[in-house]
Amino acid sequence: MKGMVISEFKDTLQLTNDGRLSLFFIGTGSAFSKKYFQTNFLIVKGNEHILVDCGTLCAYALEKVYNTPVTSIQNIFVTHPHADHIGSLEEFALTGRYVAKRKLNLIINDKFKKILWKQSVKGGLHYSEAGHMKLDDYFNQIKPELIAKKPFEIYETNIGSINLKIFRSRHITTKAHNLRRSQISYGVLIDNRILFTGDSQFRPEYLEYFQNRYPVELIIHDCDVSGYAEGVHASYRQLETLDAATKAKMLLVHYNSSAEKKTPENDGFMGFVQPGTWYLF
Ligand SMILES: [Zn+2]
Repeated sequence: MKGMVISEFKDTLQLTNDGRLSLFFIGTGSAFSKKYFQTNFLIVKGNEHILVDCGTLCAYALEKVYNTPVTSIQNIFVTHPHADHIGSLEEFALTGRYVAKRKLNLIINDKFKKILWKQSVKGGLHYSEAGHMKLDDYFNQIKPELIAKKPFEIYETNIGSINLKIFRSRHITTKAHNLRRSQISYGVLIDNRILFTGDSQFRPEYLEYFQNRYPVELIIHDCDVSGYAEGVHASYRQLETLDAATKAKMLLVHYNSSAEKKTPENDGFMGFVQPGTWYLF
């Protein structure tokens, strides 16, 4: 991609930079991948950073592999409530309260906030020495603003100069694909330039929608290489059917070891996202 520079990890993760939009994947793996951890990444730009997803292995990978304390993270956005995306949230909340003695910022709308608390993290965070706790006792909610309802909900927020457009995606849906009755899930457009699908079915209409409206330079797409989870994750085979221009700006992520048998560059893609590498834009 024009202008994208790759830079190797050194010593520890820097959470500020000279103002250039940068991404760093702590992991690039699917839910059960220990080798590639899970798909969680950092956005860094100027004085601000955002951790996108916070899976069960995220806290471990941050500290053990990248020498970066969990307590150095201030802003978090999670895409959906599967454990490979939210499994470290309890640790982040508790180390925030008891080690760093401050709340973290959580970018989340009211609907997802309720679901995340009641169905996922309440069990570990509700009781404390101070009495019954709420999500707000651990996190400052940064509530993105609803800017579109159709063809799918889009929310927007800014963290410093980082712009996020958070869109309702389709990951695990009911047979009728009724979003109200389906698992809540979001993808995100970063600075109108980088589209991250989050865990997503094969839905070319989303790629079309954003490419038609924004100067999307890079698409980071969920990809089930083996194809066994097709219908929940976009499969490699499905993504191969996209037009050449879309594929040429696409990096694939959320893969397992079967990715090692593929050479996406030969199939028209930009490649697989590499973990432990800075992407500078
Ligand atoms: Zn998922």
